Amino acid sequence: MYVHELLEQRQKTEVNKVAPDCPILDLASQMSSHGFGASAVVDADGKLVGIVTERDLVRLMSRSPEKMSSFTVSDIMSRNVVTSDPDDEVSDAMNRMSEIGVRHLPVVENGELIAIISIRDFQVICDHLGKLAKTDSLTGLANRREFMKLLEAEFSRFNRFDSPFSVAMLDIDFFKNINDEHGHNAGDTILVRFADIFRTQLRAYDVAGRLGGEEFAILFPNTNLEGAVTACEHLREAIKKIALFADTGLISCTASFGVTMVVPEFAKPECILKFSDELLYQAKEQGRDRIIGASYQEHAAQVLNVANG
Ligand code: GH3
Ligand code: MG
Ligand code: MG
Repeated sequence: MYVHELLEQRQKTEVNKVAPDCPILDLASQMSSHGFGASAVVDADGKLVGIVTERDLVRLMSRSPEKMSSFTVSDIMSRNVVTSDPDDEVSDAMNRMSEIGVRHLPVVENGELIAIISIRDFQVICDHLGKLAKTDSLTGLANRREFMKLLEAEFSRFNRFDSPFSVAMLDIDFFKNINDEHGHNAGDTILVRFADIFRTQLRAYDVAGRLGGEEFAILFPNTNLEGAVTACEHLREAIKKIALFADTGLISCTASFGVTMVVPEFAKPECILKFSDELLYQAKEQGRDRIIGASYQEHAAQVLNVANG
């Protein structure tokens, strides 16, 4: 991760700048009212000449409280300022901070001070990396690992409290043709449209994940088979309405679904996905653009087949 990416993740981007002759009490009130951990000290030409941190203020206050009103910024600022560049690796910038024992590092781009990063930004990085690890980068949906984690949590809730849930697997029909006829970018846009449909149509606590390629899974907590089939029917309708205008022509598509509900016969979460996948395979076999919903116990006898719309 680069410093500029770290800055893009931040809420607050402004830098507090003060002149060397600024009274310490003024600086303290600026920093506390705006929540700045550090201020850049700039001369009349705007050149960076030092840095003052909360720590410098606290140190002064504890050592010479009576002199607070007589000091100016130049009395306590650090003049030896090491800076970083937006194109530096964050890890290099952080290592430099730890080597020289500072908690703040000004970021300078083309001679201009644009930000001050601090060790608190580690939190921002951790949050960002945590999000990346859970998310599919193209669609923003949960990735396979995150989906499996949430499915496992739901599965243990079922085993402990008997709370029902359902799972759908869906796969875009003839997706290879879309890529072949309209190009990979158009295919990617279709995947993003699917994610948009899930985000707008599903309930906030439903979880949609991209398991890989053009294959998605949806977890419907506290939902029986009929409920999940109905929700998938709405998705199927919305998917049919996708109309993507490309140079190569109008792109539309359909998807096939396999839906099932959790039952005690499933030994582990993977079994639910496997059974949904079998139903999805049947939906493909039976002509695509359809939903096959079935309970595991009644699979042979009763298959809830929601026909084409
Ligand atoms: P079916 O109806 O049987 O599912 O046919 P299909 O063409 O969708 O199935 P197949 O598995 O043969 O093809 C899947 C295609 O998905 C092939 C692959 O190029 C494409 N694909 C997988 N991942 C991505 C991706 O991230 N972006 C794009 N654009 N295409 C992808
Ligand atoms: Mg497919
Ligand atoms: Mg596939």
